[in-house]
Amino acid sequence: MPFQKISDWLEYDKNHLWHPYTSMTDPLPTYPVESAHGVRLKLADGRELIDGMSSWWAAIHGYNHPVLNAALEQQIQSMSHVMFGGLTHLPAVTLAEKLVNLTAKPLQHVFLADSGSVAVEVAIKMAIQYWYAQGKTKKQKLLTVRGGYHGDTLGGMSVCDPVNGMHTMFQGVLPRHFFVPQPICSDDGENNIEAMEKQLQQHQSEIAAVIIEPLVQGAGGMHFYCREYLQQLRVLCDKYDVLLILDEIATGFGRTGTLFAYEQADIVPDILCLGKALTGGYLTLAATMTTAKVVQGISADGSGVLMHGPTFMANPLACQVANASIDLLLSSPWKAAIEQIEKQLQEELSICQELTIVRDVRVKGAIGVVELKEAVDMKTMQADFVAQGVWIRPFNKLVYIMPPYIIKQGELTKLTQAIYKILKRLTLNAN
Ligand SMILES: *Cc1c(COP(=O)(O)O)cnc(C)c1O
Repeated sequence: MPFQKISDWLEYDKNHLWHPYTSMTDPLPTYPVESAHGVRLKLADGRELIDGMSSWWAAIHGYNHPVLNAALEQQIQSMSHVMFGGLTHLPAVTLAEKLVNLTAKPLQHVFLADSGSVAVEVAIKMAIQYWYAQGKTKKQKLLTVRGGYHGDTLGGMSVCDPVNGMHTMFQGVLPRHFFVPQPICSDDGENNIEAMEKQLQQHQSEIAAVIIEPLVQGAGGMHFYCREYLQQLRVLCDKYDVLLILDEIATGFGRTGTLFAYEQADIVPDILCLGKALTGGYLTLAATMTTAKVVQGISADGSGVLMHGPTFMANPLACQVANASIDLLLSSPWKAAIEQIEKQLQEELSICQELTIVRDVRVKGAIGVVELKEAVDMKTMQADFVAQGVWIRPFNKLVYIMPPYIIKQGELTKLTQAIYKILKRLTLNAN
């Protein structure tokens, strides 16, 4: 046993292991987790934290769920993985059938990718191949809005917000796409759609697709906008002959109050990306879905080969836990649970509005956001939250929560109270 004490392996972690968006030479502190159960993370020193993050939108049923555990245990008895080239299996086919039935009727075809970023890459390739096979070889650009987040691989990054997404650092390798201002939702009906139309008008011969996160821009800034924008965007994409890719990797599986956010705008995308909550937070898996129209288009030049095929494509364990997670969600009162969380977040976070350091408080579905005027000191605030017995990870100016759907009223109150308490203390210190 190389590591006798917690402090030993924490030290090794610090010296050798990269964490998301961190420095190896000046690492942020990390908290050792021993186990997780329901909405609680148990730290190695025995402390328990109530989880406000669902491990980045994913663990919607909480941790260590007996039904999801059983699905994996059962699948592991028959096979953990086989290549998907030339072989197929029931876990994948069952998942495809579930996804086709759950989503809008035209979305009939499924590509099972290994992470959200890869699902976005596949979506981009589908769009480009769709036009290419029909002789429109110049349509290779994407159009998107500022403030978006679509993943960390180069293709995904190229459509992330140019500033948040560090486009300057990678300018030599990132393809250049078209950007328009972020959608807004003002009382007078202004929503910034005109800029979108202008770009489509000017560049439709170069644009393969528009890619956007519907209703909620997640990691790019936790920004919400109105359904009318999406409705107008759908019309514009048809008018200018451009495909519409909706990235529901964060919003999918109930988070915004409907199973998928696009339902609230009553539109259907040409390509849909799903991920994160797909496996209930158990394993990495994502899906890119599309329509018969896109499938036909890709095949228009007679080859029809979609140029993608990861080693771990359609991993049976991941598929089977996804199947169990979807069944669990659909058999639970998820809609009422999210409505309850939404109502409670609205009631309990609104008092943050009175703090002078707070710019905005907003809630949508099971997402609560307190936006500050200045960026927070993440290290200090993270420690403060842990001291309060909650797991909330702020970034930049945002303190936000998206708890597991199974969270109880009293547990959610612990999260909102911790936010208020810490922000209030920060306000007092700032004065
Ligand atoms: C998280 C996320 C991704 C990337 O997913 P990974 O699994 O982290 O690669 C892409 N798009 C959106 C909207 C996301 O929230």
